[in-house]
Amino acid sequence: MSCIFCKIVNGEIPSKFIYEGERVIAFEDLNPQAPTHILLVPKAHHENAAELSEGDPVALVEIFKAAKQIANERALEGYRTLFNTGAAAGQSVFHAHLHLLGGRAFGWPPG
Ligand code: AMP
Repeated sequence: MSCIFCKIVNGEIPSKFIYEGERVIAFEDLNPQAPTHILLVPKAHHENAAELSEGDPVALVEIFKAAKQIANERALEGYRTLFNTGAAAGQSVFHAHLHLLGGRAFGWPPG
């Protein structure tokens, strides 16, 4: 299997899970863009958030509940969540993942 996030889910690539639930794991982003930058990843392989909403909508709910839990644990005043969908939007890993970013100010529009 060549998907890097599948390898993390399966333990083929060692990773420290910040959260593990029935359908979702979370771990620190390798290249953090904020003091808190965590990826929330469904255990099953779905290419992007749209595919995940079709294939495993329950995981999508777990992702957002886990994001809230992690933000509370870290006492984040506010946080940003985002899915990149498609290379044109900046997606580089084609296994759905929610970015959870916090700990700094964020501009709008995001750029
Ligand atoms: P995206 O560009 O939205 O597909 O996000 C992919 C994210 O995965 C990037 O922020 C990368 O820094 C991150 N990433 C890639 N490989 C790893 C890895 N092995 N462990 C943790 N984060 C990773």
